[in-house]
Formats: sequence, C-alpha cells, structure tokens
Amino acid sequence: MLIGVPKEIKNHEYRVGLTPASVQELINRGHQVIVETNAGAGIDFSNEEYVAAGAEIIETAAEVFERAEMIVKVKEPQPQECEMLREGQLLYTYLHLAPDPKQTELLVKSGATCVAYETVTDERGGLPLLAPMSEVAGRMSIQAGAHHLEKAEGGRGVLLGGVPGVAPAKVLVIGGGVVGDNAAAMAVGMGADVTILDRSLPRLRQLDADYEGRAKCVYSTGNAIEEYALEADLVIGAVLIPGAAAPKLLTRDIISRMKKGAVVVDVAIDQGGCFETSKATTHQEPTYVVDDVVHYCVANMPGGVARTSTMALNNATLPYALALAENPKQALLSDKHLLNGLNVHKGMVTYKAVADVLGYDY
Ligand code: NAD
Repeated sequence: MLIGVPKEIKNHEYRVGLTPASVQELINRGHQVIVETNAGAGIDFSNEEYVAAGAEIIETAAEVFERAEMIVKVKEPQPQECEMLREGQLLYTYLHLAPDPKQTELLVKSGATCVAYETVTDERGGLPLLAPMSEVAGRMSIQAGAHHLEKAEGGRGVLLGGVPGVAPAKVLVIGGGVVGDNAAAMAVGMGADVTILDRSLPRLRQLDADYEGRAKCVYSTGNAIEEYALEADLVIGAVLIPGAAAPKLLTRDIISRMKKGAVVVDVAIDQGGCFETSKATTHQEPTYVVDDVVHYCVANMPGGVARTSTMALNNATLPYALALAENPKQALLSDKHLLNGLNVHKGMVTYKAVADVLGYDY
C-alpha cells in the first residue's frame, strides 16, 4: 500500500503521524511511504532520516493526499485537508468528532474511511491509543508543577523532594488512573510526600500494592479532598468520568483557603477541568493566579514534549497501521477493537455515539 504522511498544520502542532522508525517498519513489510517535506522537522526528524528509512519526500500536502491510499496523521484533519480526502482512501488519526459537526460533515462528504485513534479499544476496556498521551501528561504534570512552585514562577518556593533536614513538599493527586498513576510515580521518584485519591476501590488496591507505602492511597470523598488539598503544595487534577464533563472536585472555597503560592495542575481541563477555578491555558501562557494559587491548565500538554509524544503515540499506533496497510477490510473485520475505531465510512457515520450526538443515521 502507498502510505502518506502530511505535515501537521494546526497551530504549534509539531507531532508527526509516523516516525522514521515506523516508516522503516512499513517499508520492511513491502509498503511504500511518502512524507511531506519537513513533516518531522520541528522535532528533529529530518527529511534525510525519512529518506534513509526508505520514504520519498514530497513537496506539497496536495500531492501526498492525491497519491496516498492511506493517510497517517496526529490531529483531526483541518477543512482544507478534508477537502483533499476521497472515497476509497483510508484516514488514520485522532478525530474527536462528537463536538465537531463541521469536520464530521466534511469527512462524510469525502467518502473516505476514517479510523479514529481515540475510539480504538482493548481487551480490558481501555483506550490504547489515548493511554500514551495520558502517560505523557501525567508525568509532565509533576515537572510543570515542580517548576511553577519556584518563587520566580509565582510559587511558594518549595522543592518537591526537600533536602536532608527539610521535609519534602506535599503532592495530592486526585484520580488514580493513567494520568494519576504516572503523576504519582514521578512525584514519588522526586521524593515528594504523595497522596492519591480515587473513588474506585479496586484501583486503590492496585495502587496501594504497586507503591508499597511510598504513596498514601485514600478513598476520594469531599472531606478527603478538602483535608489533603489544604495541606498540599501541589495538587494534580486527573479524574475522568467517561463520556461526561469532569466533576468540579476542588471548589473555589477550598482553593481560597489553600497555602499561598501552592500550585494546581488541572490535567482534566480537556474535559472541562476538575477545579472550579480552572480555565484552559496554552503552552505560550500556561498559568494564571486565583486567590494566590497558581493554576496550570494547558489543554494539550503532550504537545509541549512533541518528540516524546510522537514516539509514544507511534508505539501504540504502529501495530494497527501495519494491519491496516496489509488489508484494511480484513484488519477491521477481524479485530472488533480496531473496528471500534471506525467513525466514518463511505459517507456514513459508523460510530454510534457520534451518530447519536450529531443526528446521523447509524
Ligand atoms: P483514567 O480513566 O485512566 O483515570 C481516571 C480516574 O479518575 C479513574 O481511576 C477514576 O476512578 C477516577 N475518578 C473518577 N471520579 C473520581 C473522583 N470523584 N475522585 C477521585 N477519582 C475519581 O483517565 P486518564 O487517562 O488518567 O485521564 C484523566 C484525564 O486527563 C482525562 O480527562 C483526560 O482526558 C485528561 N488528559 C488530559 C491531557 C492534557 O493534555 N490536558 C492529556 C491526556 C489526558
């Protein structure tokens, strides 16, 4: 199959659909890969590396879209990209169609077959192509929090791990899923005093066994959130209620009584945020202050570490890319979890939740 990788065109998006290593894997299986010039340049994957892996470099996105049978991207296609898709072509990328009627309409009109990373499932009911970005955001939340605890960043001037003779900072992680677990692992590694709150007992049991006492694992109630937040230097918001907006667990009242210069990182901001005072921010201006508490609410945290994120995403997307390139129909029909990724096919919305929300026949 001829696979095409256009350069991402969303503002400040430096990730790329395929790394040179992934290109090499596809070529080893007998496929051809065309890559738009400088598609990976922003994260130091040069044209030369793609050529060394066996790809052909193409000058324009238009030619990539015209020639390729399968397009591999990261972000949802922008209107000018949707216009270039056609029937019989396969699109493999994040789509997030439910809140995006315009994109859905354009993809339906294109007639292309569109597989969305975010709805591919796994045996355990997880979302394997979303998990790598949660791992990145979770780990990054502690790095961001530690940085903003510094005096010059508006924080209270506290070092996460303390030093011999000075107690470490207190870190509260609300939500112990993929983001929360990765945040806690970093905070524990830096020597902080860590508490994880979750309202799933099986999850708390698992975390308790994994951390062997290096993090306190506590059932999440309003009282527990208040008690631990008031003594915290850093709070990470990492809850998810699938399909729903994040609950506002940290109220303005609690925030107004937190330590002056404490930092709150709301990773759940992409679901509306789990702190009452949260509003989405960008990498250019990541923080703002409410009641002397520094808020970090960047909605696309993985974009800040685009090289790591691209490689993490490729580790998860490549096996499906290989299967799709081999035989798209067979790949989809023989794997119900990959089939869950199929959102649009030949002018039909094929993902029930999207069809229901946007009023398409299913
Ligand atoms: P997950 O499903 O793995 O974990 C969520 C956890 O929250 C679960 O363990 C659940 O039991 C727990 N939870 C639910 N209600 C709770 C409550 N009231 N108190 C305590 N815990 C509660 O989800 P995840 O992959 O860890 O993602 C967490 C959030 O981070 C999601 O909103 C996701 O979209 C977001 N996210 C944001 C970025 C970003 O760049 N900002 C990147 C990746 C993920």
